[in-house]
Amino acid sequence: MPPRLKAKAGVATVPEAYSTAEMVDERRGSAHQRGYGDRWRKGRLGYLAKHPLCVAHLAGGKTEAATVVDHIVPHGGDMLLFWDSANWQALCKFCHDGIKKHLEHKWYAGLIDAEQLDLSKPSIHHRLHTPQGGIVF
Ligand SMILES: [Zn+2]
Repeated sequence: MPPRLKAKAGVATVPEAYSTAEMVDERRGSAHQRGYGDRWRKGRLGYLAKHPLCVAHLAGGKTEAATVVDHIVPHGGDMLLFWDSANWQALCKFCHDGIKKHLEHKWYAGLIDAEQLDLSKPSIHHRLHTPQGGIVF
């Protein structure tokens, strides 16, 4: 039985030990199942060697080391899109985990175009959401 599973009559429950992120990852499969295996690790390292700076920071006139190779348009399991390096961008962790995730939510909701997921292109939207713009979300 999962830890700390509370049961009330007639009420569906979720184990408290599972975070939302863990549940999402369970649905999406393991990193390896999603294509993030040895080939990706090598491709990622090669890309970061050629693109060592965060493109979102560069767009704002700042330099920050990139540590993440992001898929500009989320691949959603499409391996052609996954391996298309034209769909990759080098980001720092802050820009990936904060700004890019925020923009992806807006894109999934149909509020912005896919072009706005490319953080190398300066836009009003990016200025409002990058650290250079001074707004923390
Ligand atoms: Zn950055």
